[in-house]
Amino acid sequence: VTVEVPDRAACAALDAADPLAHCRDRFVLPRGLVYLDGNSLGALPRAVRAAVDSVIDHEWGHDLIASWDDNGWWDAPVVVGDVLAPLLGAGPGQVVVCDSTSVNVAKQVEVALTMRPGRDTIVTEIGNFPTDRYLVDAIAARRGARVVAVPRAEVVEAMGERPAVVVLTHVDYRTGEVHDLRAVTEAAHAAGALTLWDLSHSAGAVPLALDDDGADLAVGCGYKYLNGGPGAPAYVYVAARHQVDLPSPLPGWVGHADPFAMEDAYRPADGVRRLLVGTPPILALAAFGAALSVFHGVAMADLRAKSLALTDLFIDLVEARELPVTLATPRDHHRRGSQVSLRHPAAPEVMDRLIAAGVVGDIRPPDILRFGFAPLYVRYVDVWDAADALATILTTGRP
Ligand SMILES: *Cc1c(COP(=O)(O)O)cnc(C)c1O
Repeated sequence: VTVEVPDRAACAALDAADPLAHCRDRFVLPRGLVYLDGNSLGALPRAVRAAVDSVIDHEWGHDLIASWDDNGWWDAPVVVGDVLAPLLGAGPGQVVVCDSTSVNVAKQVEVALTMRPGRDTIVTEIGNFPTDRYLVDAIAARRGARVVAVPRAEVVEAMGERPAVVVLTHVDYRTGEVHDLRAVTEAAHAAGALTLWDLSHSAGAVPLALDDDGADLAVGCGYKYLNGGPGAPAYVYVAARHQVDLPSPLPGWVGHADPFAMEDAYRPADGVRRLLVGTPPILALAAFGAALSVFHGVAMADLRAKSLALTDLFIDLVEARELPVTLATPRDHHRRGSQVSLRHPAAPEVMDRLIAAGVVGDIRPPDILRFGFAPLYVRYVDVWDAADALATILTTGRP
C-alpha cells in the first residue's frame, strides 16, 4: 500500500496553521531535540522555576512556619486538585494531589473493597501496569480477596465474577490502546461493582469526562503529560456521591477532621481530603500547580485533534516508508491514546541509535519502540524528523 504523505515543508505548514503552536513556548526544550517521551517524563514548563523560587524566597525563606496558613500550604493538595479537576472532567471537591500513583492505587483499592462488603473479587487486566498489579495482588492476599486478571477484551465478560472493584488503566502504557471508560464503568455498575481507573497515560493528552461517565474512583500520575516534574505528586479522584461514607484507607493525621487538635483517636476529614495521609510536599505541589498553567486557554477538543493528527502522521510516515516494524497501537481513533508503539525485534538497539540521532522515545520489553506525542509541545516537523531518523536507522543495515 502506498500512502500519500506530506513532505517536511508540508509539515512546517501544518505547524504554521496549528492553533496550539504557541503553547510550545510555555516549555523549556533543548534546541535540536525531538522529544517524544512526554508520556514518561513531561517537559519542563517555564512557569515552574518562578513558582518554586517564590515559595523558596518568600514563603519557606521568609514566612517560615506561618506559611502553612498564610501562604495556603495546608490547602495546597485540594487547591491544586481543583485546578487539575477540569482536565479529568471532574467538578470541584473530588480531586486531591498527594502521594505517588502507587500509594494512591493501594489506598483506592482498600477504599473500594471496604465500600463493597460481602464481595471479595478484584477484576483487573493481564498486562496492566506492574505497580497496579503488584499492589492489587498484595492487598487481595492480605484481605483474603481474589484477583481475576483477564485479557483486555474480556474485561466486560469478567463482570460475571461479581467483583467488588474493577481496576484498569485507561490508556495501556505499552500499546496506547484506550478503554471505553463509560462502557466499562456502566458494565461494572450493572454488576454491582466499583471502578478504579488509572489515568496515568491519559490526563493532559486524552480528554476525560469522569463525572459524566459515572466513574467512581481514579488515580493518576503527575509527571507524564501533566508535566509536574520528576517524582511529582500524583492524584486521587473520588466521585462526590461516594464521599459521605468514604473509608479512610490510611488514616494519617493530615486526613483528620482537625489535625491540630492532636486527638488520640482518628476522626476523618470531610470528603476526599480524608485520603490525605501525611504532610504535603509543598515545593513539589508548587511545581505541579505552576505546570498546570500550560493548559490555560487550551480547549480539550483542540488538544485531542492535534494528538490524533500527530499520531496519524507518524503512522502514515512509517507506513509510507514500508519500514520493518509492526504497529502495536490501534488505528481506530476511539481506541488510541497519544502515543504510537512499534514492534521491532531489536527495539533496544534501534532506540539507542534514535536517541543518539536526537530523537528521544523509549522502549518497553520485549520489543516495543514507544513514542509519546505531547500535543502542547510536539510539532509536525518533529514527527517528520523522527520518522526520517527511524527510516535511516532501519534501512542502513545496523542493527
Ligand atoms: C507511570 C505509571 C505509574 C507510576 O507510578 P509511580 O508510583 O509514580 O511510580 C502507575 N501506573 C501507571 C499506569 C503508570 O503509567
